[in-house]
Amino acid sequence: MVKMENKKAIVIGAGVSGMTAALKLKDRGFEVTVLERESRGGGVIGTFSKDGFRAESGSNSVMVQSQRTLDFLDRLAVKSKMELSNSVAKKRFFVKGGKPRAVPMGPFSLMFTPLFSLLGKIRLLCEPFIGPVKSEDPSVADFTLHRFGRDVLDYAMNPFMAGVYGGDPEKLSARYAFPPFWNLEKKYGSVIRGAIKSMKEKKAAGNFFKPMMISFEGGMETLVGALSKNLGESLKCGAKPLSIDFSGRGWQVEWVSGDEETCDNYDALVIAVPAAEIKSLPFAGSLAAELAPLDGIKYAPVATFTLGFKRSQVAHRLDGFGALTPAKENLNILGSLFVSSIFKGRAPEGYVALTNYIGGMRHPEYASLPEGEMLKLVLADIEKILGVSGEPCFKKLFVWSHAIPQYNVGYGEFLEVMDEAERKFPNLALVGAYRGGVGVSSCVESALSAASKLADRLS
Ligand SMILES: Cc1cc2nc3c(=O)[nH]c(=O)nc-3n(C[C@H](O)[C@H](O)[C@H](O)COP(=O)(O)OP(=O)(O)OC[C@H]3O[C@@H](n4cnc5c(N)ncnc54)[C@H](O)[C@@H]3O)c2cc1C
Repeated sequence: MVKMENKKAIVIGAGVSGMTAALKLKDRGFEVTVLERESRGGGVIGTFSKDGFRAESGSNSVMVQSQRTLDFLDRLAVKSKMELSNSVAKKRFFVKGGKPRAVPMGPFSLMFTPLFSLLGKIRLLCEPFIGPVKSEDPSVADFTLHRFGRDVLDYAMNPFMAGVYGGDPEKLSARYAFPPFWNLEKKYGSVIRGAIKSMKEKKAAGNFFKPMMISFEGGMETLVGALSKNLGESLKCGAKPLSIDFSGRGWQVEWVSGDEETCDNYDALVIAVPAAEIKSLPFAGSLAAELAPLDGIKYAPVATFTLGFKRSQVAHRLDGFGALTPAKENLNILGSLFVSSIFKGRAPEGYVALTNYIGGMRHPEYASLPEGEMLKLVLADIEKILGVSGEPCFKKLFVWSHAIPQYNVGYGEFLEVMDEAERKFPNLALVGAYRGGVGVSSCVESALSAASKLADRLS
C-alpha cells in the first residue's frame, strides 16, 4: 500500500461516512482536516441516556456483513466494547390484523404463518418457476409482485421497506434499494433458488461470513466517539467551508471554525454531507453545476420516539426484534423496536424500552408533529399492537427532516452524476448514505472503498 506523505485531504461532514473516509485517508498517510457543522461528530448517530434508559437518535445497531467492517472496528479499538444482540432478536414481527405475527424463517413456519393466505403461500413457492422481470429498473413493488405475489408485497416487503428506508415500495427501485434480491434474480434467474445456491457456493469457497447484529457498551455513541477520538485534532467541530475552489491541481478551501478563519490548499476533497445539503456548499467553478442534479434525491423524514414503561404495562412478551407495520394496516407508526429485548442496558430492571418510528414516505407530515400529538399517535398504536397501557415513564424524541435517502426508480442517473463528477475531478470523492446503501455497515464499507480509491488515484 502506497502512503501519501505530505499530501493533504479535507473532508466535509463528520457523520459515520465522513469520519470513516477521513480515518482511512489518515491511515494512507494523508494529513486530514474534517469540517463538521455541529458541535460533535456522528451525524444522525448518537445515544441519549437518562434514569437507566437509553435512546438512540438514529441507528440502533450495526449489521456487520463483512470481515472488513469487523477489522475496521478493531482498528478503532471498539471491538472489545462490541455487544452482540440477544438471540431473541432473530425473531421479527410484521403486523397483521392489528397484531404482531412472527416472520416465518423456514418452510415449516411459512406453512403456518397467518401473514399470508393459502393462495399467497402457493404463489410464493412458485417463485423459482417465474421468468425474470422485464424492466431494467422496476420498483420494489413491481419486482415483488412479479416474483412473489401480492401477499408478500403487502405483508412482508412493504413493512420491510418501511423499516429500512421509511420508504414506499411503489417508488423504491428494486435494483438500487434492494440489490440482494435483484442480483439473485439476475444471476440465478430466481431469488429462492439463487439464495440457496449462493449460500452453498460461499460455503464451498470458504468465504462465508455470518452477519452479526451489534451495538456497543454505551450504545452507538461509542462507535462515533471512537471515530472522533481516532481523528483527534483533525476533527474540527462547529466548522464549515466558506469557499471551495478547484485550483487545477488541488482544492483551495477557506473554512471557519469558531471565529478563526483558515485558507489552505488540499490535494483531495471528500464531500460527506447528505445529498440534500450539497447544494448549500460554497463551490466556486463548475463543480456546483456538476453536482446540482443530486438535489433531486428525495429524503424521508423520520422521527424516533423511544418510550419507557414498567414491564407490567406491556402485555406483549416483546420476545423479538420488533414489529413493523404494513401500510394496509392503516396505523400511525412505521414500526416499534423492542430495544430492551435486543441489547442490555436499554432500560432499568423491571422496565422496558420501545423505540417507535413515525413519518417516512407513508406519513411524512407525522414526523413534524408537536411532541404531544405525536405521543398520542404512537400510544394509540402500541396499545393496539402490543397491549401497552398507561403513560410512559421515559420519553425521548429525535426528529430528522432528511433522515434516509430514497433509492427510487431512476436512481442510476444520480449514481452516474457522482461517477462523472469523480471522473472530471479525480481528487474528489462523494461518500454518504446516498451512495452504496443506507445502513451503517454499508456507509462504513462504501467510505473505506471510496477513500482507498481516492488515495490510489492520487498515488
Ligand atoms: C432514524 C434513523 C434510524 C436508522 N436506523 C438504522 C439502523 O437501525 N441500522 C442501520 O444500519 N442504519 C440505520 N440508519 C441509517 C444510518 O444511521 C445512516 O444512513 C448513517 O448514519 C448516515 O451517515 P452519513 O455519515 O452518511 O450521514 P450523516 O449522519 O447525515 O452525517 C452527515 C454529517 O454532515 C454534516 N454536515 C452537513 N452539512 C454540513 C456543512 N455544510 N458543513 C459541515 N458539515 C456538514 C452533518 O452535520 C452531519 O454530521 C438510520 C438512520 C436514521 C435517520
